[in-house]
Amino acid sequence: MTIAKDKELQFTSRFHEYTRTLDCVHCGLCIPYCPTHGVTGRESDSPRGRIYLMRGYAEDGEGISREAEQHILQCIVCRACETVCPSGIHMGDMMESFREELNRAHKVKGPGFWLAKLLLRHVLPFRGRIAAISDLIYMYQRSGLRKLANATLGRLSKRFSELDRLQPEIPEPRLRRIETDRTLPGGYPSEGKARMRVGLFLGCITSEWFAPAHRATIRVLQRNGCDVVLPEEQTCCGALHRHGGFLAESGELYRRNAEIFSRSGVDVVIVNAAGCGAALKEPPHQFPAGLGPPVRDICEFLDEIGLVAPKGRIEKRVGYHQPCHLVHGQKIGPRAVEELLRKIPGLQLVPIEDSDRCCGSGGVYNLLHPEMAEPILSEKTRTILESGAEIIVTGNPGCAMQVKSGLERSSAGKAIEILHPVELLDRAYESEGRSTPS
Ligand code: SF4
Ligand code: SF4
Repeated sequence: MTIAKDKELQFTSRFHEYTRTLDCVHCGLCIPYCPTHGVTGRESDSPRGRIYLMRGYAEDGEGISREAEQHILQCIVCRACETVCPSGIHMGDMMESFREELNRAHKVKGPGFWLAKLLLRHVLPFRGRIAAISDLIYMYQRSGLRKLANATLGRLSKRFSELDRLQPEIPEPRLRRIETDRTLPGGYPSEGKARMRVGLFLGCITSEWFAPAHRATIRVLQRNGCDVVLPEEQTCCGALHRHGGFLAESGELYRRNAEIFSRSGVDVVIVNAAGCGAALKEPPHQFPAGLGPPVRDICEFLDEIGLVAPKGRIEKRVGYHQPCHLVHGQKIGPRAVEELLRKIPGLQLVPIEDSDRCCGSGGVYNLLHPEMAEPILSEKTRTILESGAEIIVTGNPGCAMQVKSGLERSSAGKAIEILHPVELLDRAYESEGRSTPS
């Protein structure tokens, strides 16, 4: 659809991505794929409905009702609609831009805005601060305070219990801290002659809470002929900033990462968290050259270079939950991951119904919109339990935490292990030569 240029400029000044809303031809093909529409069945909770609301905001110039704003903010930004839309809509970009516009337009900012700003500006970009907060959460979980809080605050507030349940168990500091003493230049040398020198992206919360996946990633890369380095000054990818419409802050983080990885001398930047990978692969418009070295998801990379087939057996039924930011954000379908898993002797891949359907995690979406995230998670939990899997693999920490919190509600679910695909590969390498399989 086209409109007069002067009108378009006027509307774009209210909503930067306005022109993209015109790409929608209202066909409705996206609607069955939208998880939030699946919960409420309302047009305003569908991609088409949200585009209509955002377009109306720009064209009216009258502000937006609280109700319409909520429907837009309830988008998980899973980007499933982007994958199926014949007009090639960019829901991710539209949502980021619209949230930035809301942050600007609200004259009076609520406590949620200031809390988000505090965390995004003063905590997430600093691994040392994340480590200190993780230590506090670890003490809370181990000291008995958690039981006490649940027995008191948990009885008074359902919201508190929900938030408490979503916390992953924080390992002790020794297991959590990813080693930074082996930063440039030596790093972790390849087993045998190096084919490549790669830089591992550590992330913010993932640097602390998912250190086991980082260590497994390093070992698997070494086994596959890579020297691995961890540039010390790297920072958060800015994905949560973008989700919240804090685009200037995310641009600054991107700039810092681009500077650090460009001078690190690595051939490739490896990312093992799908959300971070999508953010690093899609540079803000002021960085057309991207990060410098190419960015690859770890599974995509191993599939491209040809995995050294592990010899250790893992005789388990394994299901793959596809993270939205891998399949819809990075357009990496299940084949790459499943091909890697098929190389593990003894492993049986079991299908999960709608494995590319969102689990409801969406960064911090499950904390902000539990009423929407809960039914989405229940459906994901049902499909996993029905698959008969003993292990679920997924390449995004947010999905791993969310899926685990759903499975822990039943004894059958509690028995299911959640791992990153690379942790399973690492386990298979590690058990080579053992007579009993893992
Ligand atoms: S599939 Fe694309 S063009 Fe069709 S209604 Fe959805 S967003 Fe609009
Ligand atoms: S990004 Fe996901 S939740 Fe948002 S409109 Fe598209 S399909 Fe629905």
